[in-house]
Amino acid sequence: MVNNPYEKNIKTKCAVCRKEVLIDQFGQGLCNNCGWEQDINSLDYPDKVIYPNRVSYIKAVLLFGKGRPLLPSFDDFIKMFDFYGELELKYKGRWFGLTASNGHTLEFFEQKIMKFKNMKA
Ligand SMILES: [Zn+2]
Repeated sequence: MVNNPYEKNIKTKCAVCRKEVLIDQFGQGLCNNCGWEQDINSLDYPDKVIYPNRVSYIKAVLLFGKGRPLLPSFDDFIKMFDFYGELELKYKGRWFGLTASNGHTLEFFEQKIMKFKNMKA
């Protein structure tokens, strides 16, 4: 039997709302109360938008304090892109992608979801 290293079995308090949240051994875990993904990197760089979150830690605390959801603004989107180098987003039910290629070209494209059946020989 192999243990799941990502099993969320450690109780802690959410860094944003202070409600109890379950995290894995790496400190990762979604808060079902406020939507913050626990992540030590976000705490080390509280003004940066760092995966897996879509807003900075400082902004998350401010939004939560105002009773608002942790949703990114356009500026957050740009910060995310600057960090990740590629993004996907859903707009009006359609998926789009944005990526930097060759270090100086931006590509914006619609993603088509392709479904394949498991083909057995
Ligand atoms: Zn929370």
